[in-house]
Amino acid sequence: MLTDGVALTDHHCHGVVAADLDRPGFERLLSEGRRGSFDSALGLAVRRWCAPILDLEPHADPERYLARRAELGWREATTRLLRATGTTRWFLDTGFGGGRAEFAAVADGEVREIVRLEHLAEQVIAEVGTETMPFEDIETALRGRAGNAVGLKTIVAYRCGLDFPLTDTPPDTITLERRLTDPAILGWLVGLGARIGAEFGLPLQFHTGFGDTDLRLQHADPLLLTDFLRATAGAGSSVALLHCWPFHRNAAYLAHAFDHVRLDLGLTIPYVGQRATTVLAEALELAPFHSMLYSSDGCGLPELHYLGAVLWRRGLGRLLDEWIAEDIITTADAERLVTAVANGNATSTYRN
Ligand SMILES: [Zn+2]
Repeated sequence: MLTDGVALTDHHCHGVVAADLDRPGFERLLSEGRRGSFDSALGLAVRRWCAPILDLEPHADPERYLARRAELGWREATTRLLRATGTTRWFLDTGFGGGRAEFAAVADGEVREIVRLEHLAEQVIAEVGTETMPFEDIETALRGRAGNAVGLKTIVAYRCGLDFPLTDTPPDTITLERRLTDPAILGWLVGLGARIGAEFGLPLQFHTGFGDTDLRLQHADPLLLTDFLRATAGAGSSVALLHCWPFHRNAAYLAHAFDHVRLDLGLTIPYVGQRATTVLAEALELAPFHSMLYSSDGCGLPELHYLGAVLWRRGLGRLLDEWIAEDIITTADAERLVTAVANGNATSTYRN
């Protein structure tokens, strides 16, 4: 397939668990819900695609898979699975799942940091205490981290929803929480991220679409960002809509309408398994080809980083084979599209 062997830039992923896992521990990480299981499209994909990387036959049963994983040890299994992705650059969201140095110790290639706004703000609030207004300290800390980062990320979708208030001024009164949920603070924080992002040339990533049980999915539709996107169009920074499912068509529309919008199907592709071709086709109905980015959103299990890559290669490869067979696209143009989504669009979007 055209996608075989193309080098990937994983523009959004997380670290892995640096420990051997028993079956409950492994299965817990196989889901965005409270209890994961091999009994799912994702579980089938682990058995089909990851088993051969650990020298097992495809479709090895869960017990055999986990026994072999334990025999190799987490470090060897992780190294094999991450290497098999064919990723040369990893942009790591360090707000969840461990830091850059730990990941760089097990992954080949360049590892860069994505700074999570809420995580940074909560760290600053914990340090400066609740006596003073922390807004200047948060801005100073963000500027300090921005110089070494490749991008910024917000999980405002989880905290108050993507219909947060648009404001450049911090609130006068605040209830300081260990975990920020106040829309007035979050709206200011996202605005700050957009401004500092524009200044430093850092794209701002948004969690959109499905996620774990902290999320109210109806507040994670990227269409709720329409006013924010109008306000930031022409401001000099890019906005990357992550995951997107089941709103990937809405995200594709936004990328179509606004030049500074990018989208990916990280997290989505491993979870939808066999349906990845369809989901990719739906996103590409309207999204300009330069707006699609590759990511795995792998987190906790290196199996998720690997499945992100292998199912993306398979999904997009099959889709483009169909387009070539129907004479919709030339092979040369299809090759250019693959390279753009795999790494070229990330290079032009993430300039640092
Ligand atoms: Zn993520």
